[in-house]
Order: sequence, then structure tokens, then C-alpha cells
Amino acid sequence: MTTMARDGENWFWDYTRQVHVDFHMPEFPVGAIAKFDAEQFVQTFVRARANVIGVFTKCHFGNAFYDNYYGHKHNGLKGDFFGEVLAEARKYDLKVIAYYSLGTDAYAVTQNPDWYQIDENGNVRGSEGTVWELPCLNSPYREELVIPQVREITEKYVFDGYLFDIPYQHNHTCFCAYCRKKFREETGRELTTELYRDEPETVRDFGRRTAIRTMQEIRELVKAIRPEVLVNCNGAWRMGEPEELNLTSDYGLWESQPSATGTFYNHSIRARHIRTLDVPVQIMTVRFTEGWGLMSCKTPEQLKYEFATILANGGIVNIGDQVLPDGTLQQGVYDVIGEAFEFVEQREAYCLRARSVAHIALIGNNTTNWYHDKDDASTFGAAKMLLEGHHQFDIYCNSAFPELDGYKVVVLPETVELDEAAQERIRRFVARGGLLLAEGAATLGRAPVVPSTTGAALTAAAPIEAASASAVSVRDSAVPGSSASGLSKAGFLRFGLADVFGVEYRERTPYPFAYMTEDEELWQGIARIPQLVEEPFLKVTPTTAETRSRIQWPLTVPARNRAFRHPLPPAGLESDYPAITVNRYGEGTALYIAAPVFRSYWHSNHFWVRRIVGNLLNAYDTQKPFTVEAPAHVEANLMERGDDRFLHLIQYQSVQVGEKSTAFYAPIETITPMHDIGVTVRDSSIKQAVLQPEGLELPLRRTDDGVAFTVPKLHIHAIVQLKR
Ligand SMILES: [Zn+2]
Repeated sequence: MTTMARDGENWFWDYTRQVHVDFHMPEFPVGAIAKFDAEQFVQTFVRARANVIGVFTKCHFGNAFYDNYYGHKHNGLKGDFFGEVLAEARKYDLKVIAYYSLGTDAYAVTQNPDWYQIDENGNVRGSEGTVWELPCLNSPYREELVIPQVREITEKYVFDGYLFDIPYQHNHTCFCAYCRKKFREETGRELTTELYRDEPETVRDFGRRTAIRTMQEIRELVKAIRPEVLVNCNGAWRMGEPEELNLTSDYGLWESQPSATGTFYNHSIRARHIRTLDVPVQIMTVRFTEGWGLMSCKTPEQLKYEFATILANGGIVNIGDQVLPDGTLQQGVYDVIGEAFEFVEQREAYCLRARSVAHIALIGNNTTNWYHDKDDASTFGAAKMLLEGHHQFDIYCNSAFPELDGYKVVVLPETVELDEAAQERIRRFVARGGLLLAEGAATLGRAPVVPSTTGAALTAAAPIEAASASAVSVRDSAVPGSSASGLSKAGFLRFGLADVFGVEYRERTPYPFAYMTEDEELWQGIARIPQLVEEPFLKVTPTTAETRSRIQWPLTVPARNRAFRHPLPPAGLESDYPAITVNRYGEGTALYIAAPVFRSYWHSNHFWVRRIVGNLLNAYDTQKPFTVEAPAHVEANLMERGDDRFLHLIQYQSVQVGEKSTAFYAPIETITPMHDIGVTVRDSSIKQAVLQPEGLELPLRRTDDGVAFTVPKLHIHAIVQLKR
């Protein structure tokens, strides 16, 4: 992927005002596409300052929007939608990405029912009155429609890139006759529902390989005809995607909407992962307040905030829209997008192709299914804490992280899955002086099976503990450091990094939650009471670590005759088990918290948990690259490019205080500016600080190890250019 490198010539890095305009259009509406006019259509994007547009060649309904020989053209389309838009766009510096619906095609499957995906119960996936009519990528759909269409589109038109949507079979499974044939021929086994029940990953891996092979075939076809055309499939380069799939895509695409989970942190968190890659990745939001195709429109304030979180964190801004049934665009929407893109245009010169300044590596996990994310609560909770505490951090996925020499701190949520080599890199990092913060069941794994004197495996009769009901699976990998001559002291579960943590795992507790005893330094800014963590603790015993806070059990578990006013009873007996420990390891330090505090914070918004963890980090992270005197709803991020550094401050505000259970998502209406934010930057080589895009030089004060200055005003996004 060297051609896509950040310092390379690829245009995609420099085009961050992108609109993807959906055009999934059935044929039943009277007058469908009748008012389409290419000149007006393209003028709308030009007026809104867009510089990339995603244009349809085929929609989910299977209707072609170009001058096709293969497949079925929309019956309302008289001309060549794609070709005419492309010709108009060529008059401006407007790049065109051809959208092709791959994993959904209603026309193809209704005309060729044997092409349908079949689920594990033998039902076709479709025919339920929705847009989701799913063809199987192992059926002749690929050979007889997809490949011929992609070939003719690529040969016929000169354009800039492709977006192939939905590269995956639903849930990565299909049980149609074509899949069963291919599976049998490749594996010698039968693809059955019984196999799916007993070995779900075997079946899903076949599904993932189907997606990878399809995209490999498409990529090779496109590159053979037009090597300069960028190829992408939706979801490529997301956290946790298979590398083979990523390598089929010249740029990444990670869909991201605040309304999907109700959080506005999605863009920042995604961008903080993809910026560790040397591949440009679109973070794609939408104009609609609540999901694709709901024809509402966000405020300019919300779009500016959303775009700032993408742009400032190293992502490429892309916003989705939907063409109206008559083939026109809603002009009022482009007043709003235009205002927000002007905001981007003023700032992009300070953002494009920048790299993050390495300080904290959050090494987490993320799982995907089809193309929907299932955001990992532990990883996202850790990211939320770090964002709100103004910490400088990047995000890596499981073992896919480099040597950590550039970083000062590593954070491990308990869901992270680390192979032995990855654990060894972390061990070296701490030994050389790094700071580690780990929580809950991080690196907890099954110890090796040890034969008994009679030759029977002891583990065969032993119950295996589930680390947690909701998130953690017990890893099967052998644990480094375990005794080869007998069971480790903890039984069958042991921390892979027990020596680094300085604690040994003992066991689980009867309680679904517990309290932490007060530590004066760590309790700064919160009430001096035993503090609740609403997740199960682990009993661990220190080997070399010191205890800073202990677990205080709840008074009881509510049951008959033991009810209390609230379902979560107050604190009861103090235990001897640590809740927070500190361990010196080599030249470095390991902090360990014996509960999944990150997931707890993500699910509960219990601010005291964040403050305790923040106080703990701040007590030991002595080399923070900057400090910002601002409330938790201001995000801070430090980037660098050439000799300059760029400190970004981004303000989130929501004034909605209404019903949460039904309206889980509160759109942003207005953001009120803040004033006089104190900043220190730990860098003595800084000679000048300029507030951008205003160009206002800020007076600098020298400190012991850097500079201090005041940002006079922050509305939505302020950039301080730090010149050295
Ligand atoms: Zn199939």
C-alpha cells in the first residue's frame, strides 16, 4: 500500500469535502427520476464546496444508472445518469467515485431466485418488503452480472474511484446450493446448519473468504483496465477487518453516525484508529438526523462539530445524502452542507496529511458483523475517558500494533486480545520505562493443560470460569511465564502479564458490582465516600504491586429477606483484595484496576469512575505533551506535520434535556462559545503559537519544560499552530 502513503502523491489525502449521494430508487414511484438534470445536479455540489462526489452506477434495487449492456437500467431513467454527472463534474475540480451495490440487488434475485442468499433455516434473505434483497456472492450473480457490469463501467468511463457497497454476505453466512458446492469442493466437508451450530467460525470464515475473493477479483479487473482508479469496499480499513480485505481497498471507509449509538464520540474514536494507518480513510456521516434516508437535516452547528472531529483527528470527511425520487437534490440541505464545508475549507490546510503526536496507545478491540459495527464497550469506554480527560492517544486493534518506543503510556481494556508476541512487546515497553494501565480481565487466559501423574489432563474435569458474562472469552493461547512443572497458583486462569501487573489472578466474586475504598490523591474532585463501580470485580493478590485502593464488597446481594432500598445496596465489609495497584517493573510502572471500569463508564456515565482513573493516570503520566484547562466536553488533540505542531480544541454541546428512553439521540442545535482556555505545551522548542484560521498570534509564557498560552475563544473548533 506504499502508493497510498501519507507523504505520497495520492490525491485522496487532500480531498476532505466529500459527499456520497445515495440513489437507491425503486421503479414504482410515478415520475421517478423525471426531473434529473445533470448540470443542476452538479452545480448543487459545486455551490456547496464539495470536491468529491459518490455517484451511483447501480442501487440496492438492482437498477443500473449508467448506459449499460448488462443488467437492468432504471425504467424512469431516459439518459445516462452516471455518465452525464461525470461529464459535468469534469468541468470542475470535482472527483467522482462510482458507487456499486454489491451485496444487495433486488432485481437480480427476483429475476434469478437461485441467486438468493439462504439463511441457516433454509429461508431466502429478502422478500420482506424492505430494500434488503440479498444475492449470494458465490452464485452466478458474480460471474453473470457483477463482473460484466464492473468491466463495462470501467472500460466506458474515465473516473476517479470505486465504492463497492456491502462486500459481505449477511452474518458472513450463506447456505445456498452454490455455497454448499464450493464449501464441499474446498474443504471436503458439508456446509450444514449442524456445522454452523458446532463450528460457527468455520462457517463464518468461509463467508469472509467469499468477500475477500470477490473483492480481489473485482480489484484485479479494475486495475487491469484503469490502474489509476482507486478501489474500495465499504468497511475496508476499519478496526478489526481482515487484512486481506483491507488490501483490496486503496482507501478506507468507516461509516459513523451519532444516531447509531447515541454518542457523538464515534468519529473521534474511529479517526484515532485509522490515523495510525498509512491509508486515507473516509469517516462517513450523514445529513439526516437519524439514519440513512430519513429526510431530515442536521444543523450547521452539528455538521461543523462532526466534521471537526473527523478532520482534526486525521480522517477524511464524507457526508451522505439521498437523491429525491424525481432525480433532484434538496437544495436547502446544500445551504447547510455548504456552510459546514466552508468551515472545513478554512481549516483543512492545518489538518490534511498530519500525523498524531504519539503519547498514549490505547490497544483495544472492536468487532464487526456484516457492515454494522458492534462497538466494543470496553474500548469505547476507555476512549471516552481519555477524550474527556484531554489525554493524547491513538487506538490500535488487538495484536496489530508496532513497537511502542514512540509512546509513553499503554492502556489495555479488558476485551483486548493479545498474542504472545504482542504481550512481549508490552513487557519490553514497561521494562524500558513505559507506563501501563490495565483493567479487569486484560490478558487473562487459560493456563497450559498440565498432565497429572496418572496421565489424565487435569483440566478435563475442571470447570472453566467465564471471565465475564458480557464480553470476555477465555483465550486458549498458552500463557507465557506459567510454570511448566505444575498448575500456576491461580488455577486455570492467569494474567499473561501477571509479572508486569505485579498481581496474580485468584477468582471471581459473588457480586455483580462493588465499591472502591478512598485514596486521598485519587479521590480528588469526587465525594470522599466508597465509590461504586457497576461491574464485577476480580479478586487478585499482589505479588510485587502496592495497593492504593481496596475492594469494598456490597452489603449483600439482594434476595428474599435481604432487600435494600435500592437494588444496589450500600458498601459493606472492606476486603483484603486490591481494587487499584501500582507495580514497578524494570524502569517502568504498571497500574492495574481490578474491575472493567472502562465498560462500566461507557454503559453508566458514572463520572466518578472517570475521575478516579484520570487522577490515577495523571499521577504517573509525568510527560503529558499538553494540558488544557477545559471541561470534559472539550476534546484536545495534538498533530504534527513538518516542523509544526497543531493543537486542536473541539467543543461539544447539546442542550437537549428531554426523554432519553425513546429519543436516545439528542441532535446538536447550538454551541455557545467558551473563552480564555489555559493551555500548556511540554515543548521548549516552540517559538510561536498562532490561532487558526484567524491567524491571531497568541502571547507565549515560558514554563520549566515548555510554553503556556491562553486561547481567547473556542466556539466549535480552534486550531493553535505551534511553530518551532
Ligand atoms: Zn450462497
